[in-house]
Amino acid sequence: MSSSASVTRPGRLLTQNREMRAIGVWNWTLPALAARLPDGRTQVTCPAASACARICYARNGTYLFPAVKAKHTANLAYVLEDLPGWEAAMISELSAPRLAGKFIRVHDFLGQFRCVS
Ligand code: SF4
Repeated sequence: MSSSASVTRPGRLLTQNREMRAIGVWNWTLPALAARLPDGRTQVTCPAASACARICYARNGTYLFPAVKAKHTANLAYVLEDLPGWEAAMISELSAPRLAGKFIRVHDFLGQFRCVS
């Protein structure tokens, strides 16, 4: 998908907060339910959501912080506008020695994967 608005690519895709650092988990996620992209489009990310959206963990608390929303929106824009570039960047990060044996949480509201590199 292309866009007329330019999007700043995250310097690193995988991040950690203090809690995730303590248990060796790195994280990458998209906005829950939907997000407004820099070009003004709204992209639905949970097309099957219904009543869950009212109590969604990933739509409350720190997820409402502007910096957090901006990061997740940038992640979404990246995969929509340049999926091959995102794949290459993610594969590169997953190969980094700092991630050997660590866990990757893909979407804050889903499960975790173990990095075996
Ligand atoms: S509970 Fe799951 S499906 Fe529902 S809005 Fe949140 S992330 Fe989306």
